[in-house]
Amino acid sequence: MLSLPGFALVTGSGNGIGRVIARSFAKAGAAGVHVADISKEVAQDASEEITSVATNPKFKALASVVDVSKEEDVKEMIGLTKSRFGRLDYAVNNAGIAEPARLTADVPIEVYDKVIAVNQRGVHLCMQAQLRMMRAQNAVQLDGDRPSARGAIINMSSGLGLVALEEIMIPSYATSKHAVVGMTRMAAVGYAQHNIRVNAVCPGYTSTSMMANEGLGDVSSMISRVPQRRFILPEEIADVVLFLASESASAVTGVAWAVCGGRSAV
Ligand code: ADP
Repeated sequence: MLSLPGFALVTGSGNGIGRVIARSFAKAGAAGVHVADISKEVAQDASEEITSVATNPKFKALASVVDVSKEEDVKEMIGLTKSRFGRLDYAVNNAGIAEPARLTADVPIEVYDKVIAVNQRGVHLCMQAQLRMMRAQNAVQLDGDRPSARGAIINMSSGLGLVALEEIMIPSYATSKHAVVGMTRMAAVGYAQHNIRVNAVCPGYTSTSMMANEGLGDVSSMISRVPQRRFILPEEIADVVLFLASESASAVTGVAWAVCGGRSAV
């Protein structure tokens, strides 16, 4: 089992994939997990739940409310991480929203703006704040540090961040998730010499509430196009996220890793 002894921040971790990722960090020995979500209730609930499964005796859980599309909120979120944890080792930018299925010409501009604000601007703002904090940490060399151990960011993209899929027409979402891959690559290259690794994970059809959203379309037709013919479990996404955060991935930066049962290979 991987060991993740540092402090983690996971956005959108009150529900779904983010919550499972936060739980996995707690189980893997993290010193602390900051659960940040737009909903106070779910953030609180998730932080209590993950505390009950934490394996580090000194585990600290932190729950906070953030709208990742708002610069002030993001500043506050990172400020809390700093004041309560003192450092940030793993950041997972997972908060996101979907949209009803539609062709490009039919997307209302308000829907486009909202999806881009949360999924794209939100990751940009969070990553900026995290990179600043990690870069400042890394300016201080600690004895015995392996260079690669100095900070990992994982951005949640999507299979729709890599390709278009004809069974799921959500153009603003796909645009925002492609952008996440682009900003991941730019940051990976820009911060490699600061010993910060930046990677993206691209989930396929995952058995969570976002997929249960009725507006997305016919779920059985989606699954029939997946080579493995099944939903991905959120735990399977979390396993890849934790690997990318860990020392085992010390030379991995700038990748967009599909976790989709083979769908993006078709
Ligand atoms: P998935 O199925 O991909 O995990 P969910 O909808 O279950 O998606 O989870 C997305 C999480 O992101 C939810 O907990 C939701 O409250 C959170 N979220 C949505 N918008 C924002 C936002 N603007 N800022 C922070 N968190 C958000």
